[in-house]
Amino acid sequence: MANEDLAALVRTIKDYPHAGIMFRDITTLLLDGTGFAACTERLAAAIITPPDLVAGIEARGFIFGAALAQRLGVGFVLLRKQNKLPGRVTGVNYALEYGTDRIEMHADAVQPGQRVLLVDDLIATGGTALAGLELLRGAGAVVDEAAFVIDLPDLGGAAKLRAAGISVHNLLEFEGD
Ligand code: AMP
Repeated sequence: MANEDLAALVRTIKDYPHAGIMFRDITTLLLDGTGFAACTERLAAAIITPPDLVAGIEARGFIFGAALAQRLGVGFVLLRKQNKLPGRVTGVNYALEYGTDRIEMHADAVQPGQRVLLVDDLIATGGTALAGLELLRGAGAVVDEAAFVIDLPDLGGAAKLRAAGISVHNLLEFEGD
């Protein structure tokens, strides 16, 4: 398997946060300095066109997104949960398994035409990433690429992003959910 060294650093916790979920815990990967740095390097190497900005999704997307922004020498945009940002915001609601959620960003964070790389730790059903994409494109950003440490391909999120015109980069894949 590609990136086997990194796969070995991800801890799987069964039945968290609900019965039936295999939670892929990246905190153990973050504890390993070499592994964490390798994530940044390898994701940076996969990027096709250098972005103007990196956008990270709260909360674990901030960790990998900010590291990647530093590595690429560009700024970082926070896509946050509702009511966390102090300035004027723009937001997108999206469906969860039960109920809805909302992500927001500062309305003046991204200028029309800026190329933005979307980053999160993991893509599952893609609901979160698609909401981030809608938020960024709604602000006029050009979003052609997204980067994740982990893809759960059986849940279909990466395929949905590709259908929306995105080149999806990921280092690891885990079967099932
Ligand atoms: P989704 O919107 O279904 O693509 O879910 C993606 C978001 O939920 C990411 O921010 C992940 O951190 C988190 N997530 C979903 N499923 C898992 C899982 N099995 N293990 C760890 N995190 C997950």
